Amino acid sequence: MKRADYEVVVVGAGAAGIGCGVVLRDLGVQRFAILERYEVGASFRRWPAETRLLTPSFTTNGFGMLDPNAIALQTSPAYSLRTEHPTGSEYARYLEGISKYFRLPVRSGVEVLDVQSGGEEKRFTLRTNRGTIRCRFLVWATGEFQFPDLRPFPGAVLCRHYATVPSWSALPGEEFVVIGGYESGMDAAVHLARSGRRVTVVDPAAPWASQAPDPSLSLSPFTLDRLREIGGTNRIQFVAAAAEEVVQTADGRHAIQLTNGERLLTAEPPILATGFSSSLGPVANLFERQENGSPLVTEAADESTITPGLFLSGPMLRHDKVIFCFIYKFRQRFAVIGNAIAQRLGLDTAVLEQYRQASMYLDDLSCCGVACAC
Ligand SMILES: Cc1cc2nc3c(=O)[nH]c(=O)nc-3n(C[C@H](O)[C@H](O)[C@H](O)COP(=O)(O)OP(=O)(O)OC[C@H]3O[C@@H](n4cnc5c(N)ncnc54)[C@H](O)[C@@H]3O)c2cc1C
Repeated sequence: MKRADYEVVVVGAGAAGIGCGVVLRDLGVQRFAILERYEVGASFRRWPAETRLLTPSFTTNGFGMLDPNAIALQTSPAYSLRTEHPTGSEYARYLEGISKYFRLPVRSGVEVLDVQSGGEEKRFTLRTNRGTIRCRFLVWATGEFQFPDLRPFPGAVLCRHYATVPSWSALPGEEFVVIGGYESGMDAAVHLARSGRRVTVVDPAAPWASQAPDPSLSLSPFTLDRLREIGGTNRIQFVAAAAEEVVQTADGRHAIQLTNGERLLTAEPPILATGFSSSLGPVANLFERQENGSPLVTEAADESTITPGLFLSGPMLRHDKVIFCFIYKFRQRFAVIGNAIAQRLGLDTAVLEQYRQASMYLDDLSCCGVACAC
């Protein structure tokens, strides 16, 4: 690739990057590109084969409720995939379809290695494996899945991270310990138990007992149903404690020391489901941090507070206590970012009214506390 110059570059062609791309297309941005190191929907394609989206898809669009897993207006994974809980590879097909339908300028196989801001005309200079790219606005949408946190406690490197398992049924072994009891840990436990294995899940926060109404903090109904379905088999045990350390024993097993004093022994590497690292990589220094460690962005446009023109999209997005880890949450900020860029490019933003009407334009974050009366 020769040195190229764009008005806007989006990095990452997952749910966030493709969703932002559609907004830029709708706004009539002329020169933009979506840079993707692998292919559209790469993270979803790398999910374990059995894993499905927890959030249900349904063709509710006609009555003003966009399919919860849709990332663009007038599209619905339920309609295009004919399923309620798509697998990762099915959902990647939906993203690929959107990319083709809207003729998004995705450049696959382009990995951004380094980003410099400022200099001549205040542009960003991106060093990639295919050459140098420059742009005026940069949207960082690199997700989390491809950046597993492999060292959350001593000995964690002896574990197998959730994100590195191609298929649960194909994993050898009869007994497993899963460290982490939120959605990915429960997903591992459910699929292992379904294929006849015995599983112990450890988590000090005991998410399986949480009554919190925000699904970013408690288990989804889909997972609670799955746990009930296999509950009678007694194949899953729960321990409300944290793993402190994992060591390998002389006979090659794995010993997991827990904070409650218990020590669990397993032949198979424990499954690590404790989360992901930051994927900010090349732009890490271009953001300030919030107290909770998340990148600090403006409430008005999810823009870095220290690097104007740099925007953040996707599950890393947080505004204090408002967590955007699900697609139906962070998709409501694509048009907010698009609006900020369009205003500065002098483009007409009238098209964004459609986004507002479809609850795809969230600019008042005071609305987002989750409280359910029943
Ligand atoms: C098991 C599991 C189940 C989930 N279930 C749900 C669910 O039911 N509902 C829901 O709403 N959310 C769910 N989530 C969360 C959801 O999948 C993520 O929030 C979503 O994938 C994030 O989309 P994204 O576009 O930000 O990131 P990704 O889909 O990870 O896309 C990021 C893209 O950036 C590319 N990239 C990374 N670094 C670079 C670079 N330097 N240069 C170029 N390209 C780069 C990657 O290859 C990737 O394609 C789930 C997550 C997991 C792990």
